[in-house]
Amino acid sequence: MDTKAYANHGADKPFVPYSFVRRAPGPKDVAITITHCGICHSDIHTAKSEWGDAFYPCVPGHEIVGTVHSVGENVSKFSVGQTVGVGCLVDSCRTCPSCKEGLEQYCENEKVPTYNAALSNGDYTKGGYSNFIVVDEDFVLRIPENLDPAAAAPLLCAGITTYSPLKHVGVREGHKVAILGLGGLGHMGVKLANSFGAEVTVLSRSPHKQADAKRLGASKFLLTTDEEAVAKHANYFDFILDTVSAPHDLGQALSMIKREGKLILVGASDTPLDLEPFPLILARRCIMGSLIGGLPETQEMLDHCGKHDITSDIELIEPSYINDAYTRVLKSDIKYRFVIDCSKL
Ligand code: NAP
Ligand code: ZN
Ligand code: ZN
Repeated sequence: MDTKAYANHGADKPFVPYSFVRRAPGPKDVAITITHCGICHSDIHTAKSEWGDAFYPCVPGHEIVGTVHSVGENVSKFSVGQTVGVGCLVDSCRTCPSCKEGLEQYCENEKVPTYNAALSNGDYTKGGYSNFIVVDEDFVLRIPENLDPAAAAPLLCAGITTYSPLKHVGVREGHKVAILGLGGLGHMGVKLANSFGAEVTVLSRSPHKQADAKRLGASKFLLTTDEEAVAKHANYFDFILDTVSAPHDLGQALSMIKREGKLILVGASDTPLDLEPFPLILARRCIMGSLIGGLPETQEMLDHCGKHDITSDIELIEPSYINDAYTRVLKSDIKYRFVIDCSKL
């Protein structure tokens, strides 16, 4: 199937229109007309080869929503015209212990990310900055009918990446949770931690985000540059969800966590983070990481968002605006996720 897309042709090159052919759908495949795709900071890290050399032309995009165009003869879960989503993965080994537990993101063999993954036929995967995709039905998700498809697209990465660790550590009423960095992931973290009943604080270096933090559901906003406010919150939080995309001070975040509390790292800086041992040792604190979520949990998150009417705050853009959107994300000038209108491709 001829597919229209936007791709960049090198780490320092801009996104330009690009066409390629998607594989023909097999018996278990769902062919999807993409209507919307979010711009995740991971797209930027990848397109700029910050996490290692990318394949070019690079077509990022793993926050995909669209309508089912056609289904293979053995597809049982989806039908033509249905609104569906595709997240960060399009396949995994399906046999390792992680896959068997529905934790495909931690597949110990061959997981296949939605873009920039080498395939055995010498090709590589291309993502959602495009108008069409073919995906095995086991990696396709149902989008609740009450959610706006454009605002639901970021749930496929920003939503699940924040939902999964908050669930894993058991966030609930009575917990004090801080979200570090109010960007695409961060603003979903605020909404989701709030929906679990926690007291939510935003930790940010951007004073202009204070009003938005409150509107999104945070009861407190704390500037990480305000040393007095930071000191006042020593040993305060049960959990801090760290969504920052660049090197930053882990010791400062740790100092605000209670004894035995956890700093959950989801932000993926391309350069190593400094870690002083004492903030960990002195209060038996932990640092853990978390990667997106598996397919069953991603569906659970979408259903939770459907039930609680949770979507992302978005700016819907034309495909030609992708380069400007990247510049604005890098300046933290976002409210709070760019979503590409792929029907305009
Ligand atoms: P984003 O929208 O750019 O948000 C990141 C936020 O971090 C910014 O809005 C800013 O918030 C803060 N920040 C940025 N640079 C900073 C710096 N130098 N010092 C301090 N704070 C800084 O990005 P995103 O899409 O939410 O993604 C965030 C990170 O998570 C990226 O590294 C991305 O690759 C990673 N990610 C990981 C997973 C996973 O599975 N673990 C999944 C998706 C994305 P303030 O202005 O409020 O300070
Ligand atoms: Zn992402
Ligand atoms: Zn596996």
